[in-house]
Amino acid sequence: MGKTAAIRVLHTAAECFPLVKTGGLADVVAALPKALRAAKLDARLLLPGLPALREALKSPVEIAQCGPAFGAARVTLLRGLLPDSTVPTYLIDAPWLYARPGNPYLGPDGREWPDNLQRFALLGWVAAQLAMGELDPAWRPDIVHAHDWHAALAPVYMAAHATAATGVARARSVLTIHNLAYQGRFSAERFGDLQLASWMSSPAGIEFHSELCFLKGGIQFADRITTVSPTYAREILTPAEGHQLDGLLRHRADRLSGIVNGIDTAIWNPATDTAIAAPFDAGHTAGKALCKQALQREFGLRQTPGAPVLGVISRLSPQKGLDLLLSALHQWLGAGGQMVMLGSGDPALEHACRATAQAAPDQVAVSIGYDEALAHRIIAGSDLIGVPSRFEPCGLTQLYGLRYGTIPLVHQVGGLADTVVDASEAAVREDRATGFSYRGAHLDELSHALRRAIDLWHNPPLWQRVMQRAMAQDTSWHAPATRYAELYKGLLGQVAP
Ligand code: ADP
Repeated sequence: MGKTAAIRVLHTAAECFPLVKTGGLADVVAALPKALRAAKLDARLLLPGLPALREALKSPVEIAQCGPAFGAARVTLLRGLLPDSTVPTYLIDAPWLYARPGNPYLGPDGREWPDNLQRFALLGWVAAQLAMGELDPAWRPDIVHAHDWHAALAPVYMAAHATAATGVARARSVLTIHNLAYQGRFSAERFGDLQLASWMSSPAGIEFHSELCFLKGGIQFADRITTVSPTYAREILTPAEGHQLDGLLRHRADRLSGIVNGIDTAIWNPATDTAIAAPFDAGHTAGKALCKQALQREFGLRQTPGAPVLGVISRLSPQKGLDLLLSALHQWLGAGGQMVMLGSGDPALEHACRATAQAAPDQVAVSIGYDEALAHRIIAGSDLIGVPSRFEPCGLTQLYGLRYGTIPLVHQVGGLADTVVDASEAAVREDRATGFSYRGAHLDELSHALRRAIDLWHNPPLWQRVMQRAMAQDTSWHAPATRYAELYKGLLGQVAP
């Protein structure tokens, strides 16, 4: 192939929307390779053969037998297509490690599977084998793009192979950190299960504070490190937000950059969304009022168009700052506001959310659980979407909100800072404002932002202006995919270190 051959990039991760999803990672893994293919790159996926994926893979072809490995006697690499996708997808069929339904990381008792080290080491190892051209004679990636700690050993195994092999053009590696708080840490005693040379057990390898740390290995060995917004890329260099990895990240800062996620604008499109009560777009917003009515009806809230509805869709974890929102809520409700919340997670937070709804049933509704269609109805029917996260690498719900004219109210951190322009007087006047963005994860600041939202709500022309500006923002994958493509090109053009 000549100079113009499409860049071959293998994305590897533990989740892929809609079949396996615990968070925004799954959405990115489904949408980014698709967007890269639209930009004429040869993007493919490598995923663990979890039951939902294994059952859905269409026309699977056996590519290679690569076991026994990591305790699994039978490891088969399959290739096929997932439903509604044109992205060629490799699946690691290793029933001993992956044939477990439900959450990809946790057993039925809510605890991590005891063999997660082997389950996700295999993912990185197979990625590296593909990069070496060992498994698929018809396709070898130029770039392996690993997502989060689950795939973070891919750059480590690639580096280990590279030191052993000669004469083979080395594939390059990219690691994207979707959330630095999740690192894949294991007891150092388990190093022997990783099939790595002994020097890798040292601080120069994957040892970290006397443990093994998959994410640390990825950061150490990836040719490029990205995270999901420029602000988060800066924040993680500080001790406050670095989750102990800031020192290493500062050391590798010349390899680190931030690219804001897009959203799948075919799935999140108010003009064609079949999950919502009525379609709408920036030019025809009457449908949004119907969506709001339907939402209020569904949840038994007071049927008043004049009451601003604040929507929340979130994992219920301390990161998301919903404890602060619950504390600030009395003022919002006192001013006639309403809230609809969908989430699950921390039992104490679930309890607190339920109790808030019980205390004011015609103003607050809470649904505990995970429900994609309901998430669409909440985004479409709410006036505001609240994202008070203490830290937020990118955040997706504020992007859905922008697209649906549901004005984000966010803590000014990470991707929230990069995607929402606060409705300051100047920004509204200059027609730049898209939401409410406050500094400091404290009750006073959040309360003040809620007060400002109420004030703007009582000024319908200005509210409409902010809503229109929000809906005009480009939240698609087009620009981010172009940035990733540039990053790959830069990486392939440079001389190997
Ligand atoms: P994180 O990955 O930290 O959970 P993001 O905002 O990046 O946060 O992504 C969360 C994704 O999960 C969004 O697509 C959001 O709509 C979705 N989500 C979170 N909780 C729920 C829920 N209870 N029901 C449906 N979708 C949810």
